[in-house]
Amino acid sequence: MTKAARGRLFFANPGPTNIPDSILRAVSQGTVDFMSADFLKLYDACMDGLKRVLKTKQHIFFYTASGHGAWEASLVNVLSPGDTILIIETGYFSESWAQMAEALGIKVQTYHADWRKGADIAGLTAVLEADTAHTIKAVGAVHNETATGMALPLPDVRAAIDAAKHPALLMADTISSLGCFDFEMDAWGIDIAVGGSQKGLMLPTGMSFTGVSDKALKAHKTSTMPKHYMDWSAMIGRRHKSFIGTVPVSLFYGLAESLRLLNDEGLDEVFARHHRLGEAVRAAVKIWSGNNGPQLFCLNPSRYSDSVTAIMMPEGTNGDALRAVCMERFNVSLGGGLGPLSGKVFRIGHMGDLNEPMILGTLASVEMALEIANIPHTKGGVDAAMASLAMGQ
Ligand SMILES: *Cc1c(COP(=O)(O)O)cnc(C)c1O
Repeated sequence: MTKAARGRLFFANPGPTNIPDSILRAVSQGTVDFMSADFLKLYDACMDGLKRVLKTKQHIFFYTASGHGAWEASLVNVLSPGDTILIIETGYFSESWAQMAEALGIKVQTYHADWRKGADIAGLTAVLEADTAHTIKAVGAVHNETATGMALPLPDVRAAIDAAKHPALLMADTISSLGCFDFEMDAWGIDIAVGGSQKGLMLPTGMSFTGVSDKALKAHKTSTMPKHYMDWSAMIGRRHKSFIGTVPVSLFYGLAESLRLLNDEGLDEVFARHHRLGEAVRAAVKIWSGNNGPQLFCLNPSRYSDSVTAIMMPEGTNGDALRAVCMERFNVSLGGGLGPLSGKVFRIGHMGDLNEPMILGTLASVEMALEIANIPHTKGGVDAAMASLAMGQ
């Protein structure tokens, strides 16, 4: 236990996220037979409720796995060995997705982008038009790059594919956007939406899912990739239309409560709250950045993420040292930099069960830690955040 381990842990990681008390109570209930009538009723309601959050009327398959498991399920169910996937580079998570595809025997073509500015979607059409033989079977897009704090405009990606009249499936990772800012599976023509439990849905880690379009289900029929535990054909014939083994009953108790919370607040209100909190964090960082202080990693304001902010440390300073001060002195947990950004950025998660005073407490702790760790910055970030929140932007 660190000496600051008293009061509330201010958990500002960009996943997992704070688990609301009512969800903790829900998952603590004793287990039941997953074929019992009461559970099936709750399960079916979860399926319908999650479809409303994904904004789809098509199919969902669940997995007892973290988000990576749902990624793998999306690849093995619709592709065949030697197929090509075009992955839009966003950062650490798009690269991880590419590595997984390669490990599975899928060819990866990367649509390169600057991690701080984001992909130029307009150029995507030409790449797809050049693929006259239609060797590209899928386009992989990370809706919210959790490592950089940048969102990708998926409707623009859809439009670029349509403009090329290319039949590739559109796979979108919505793990850190779903339940944080708008995602519309059907309206945006997403064929596979990959989601997880422990971010915007505020649940414990251990369950993930894919929203699947009719078109993707059709492609699944001819996929020859080896699969068993994640095989949609095996799942679809089962009562739960998912799960080859035991159904994780506790996580569905939690999901039912998560969906109730999202529904009671209203999805649009949930998105507005994430925007307000994201704006407050960005307002603070913009002030700190004076005097060669830490600055926003994302250089493209039209793509600021409303669920996470990555903050780049001044040259010669280390984000992990700052995080250690926050943890040890103030019981505030921040996200670190991933992959090549390790030590170079720290991240403030503002997704899930979070409100204004929680984000202000986190920002005030960071501002104190900047001073304690002798990191150059301009003071007044918290004042700017308060002003931003008071205006209710
Ligand atoms: C968290 C995250 C993942 C990985 O999910 P796990 O549940 O950790 O396996 C994938 N993509 C994005 C964008 C994420 O934020």
